Amino acid sequence: MVRVAKPPKPPEPIRHDESVPGPAQAAQIALLVMKKVGCQTWKDVVEKASNTDLRTKVILSPEQQALIDEYADIIPYLSTSPLVTVVACPLCGRYGLQDRRSAGSRCIFTMRCPGKPVKGSSTPKAQTRTKAEPPDDSSGDVPDPAEADVAEAAPPAGADGLYD
Ligand SMILES: [Zn+2]
Repeated sequence: MVRVAKPPKPPEPIRHDESVPGPAQAAQIALLVMKKVGCQTWKDVVEKASNTDLRTKVILSPEQQALIDEYADIIPYLSTSPLVTVVACPLCGRYGLQDRRSAGSRCIFTMRCPGKPVKGSSTPKAQTRTKAEPPDDSSGDVPDPAEADVAEAAPPAGADGLYD
């Protein structure tokens, strides 16, 4: 039996949260693309795409591509480190940029809007399937500082004595 070379594994599809407003979805997709290809900004992704075939690393559904196109005006402002994402109000539809802090509980865009703003996550939507899968860190990706969305990095313990 002859073993033939395996074709390259297609990239994992990006899982984003389709329940949040469009701008927050677009931000999440863009941030996940940046992480997948090892870039911190969309500009870096575009530059990388000019000399690398990124389709071997990342694949978007037509819906995801459409969201990226629709919100192409804000995506260049996003960054994975330091985190810059989008916060969007599901009620009045307005949106803006947001750092890693919480989106808050009140709409900041429209006076007296009772909407609760939603942030575009920088992590993939959790899979809802029952089968538990270990996180996929087999690809040897660059470390992922934006993963520390909630926990601020603490200085290493015992570093004080270093400068004595
Ligand atoms: Zn609002």
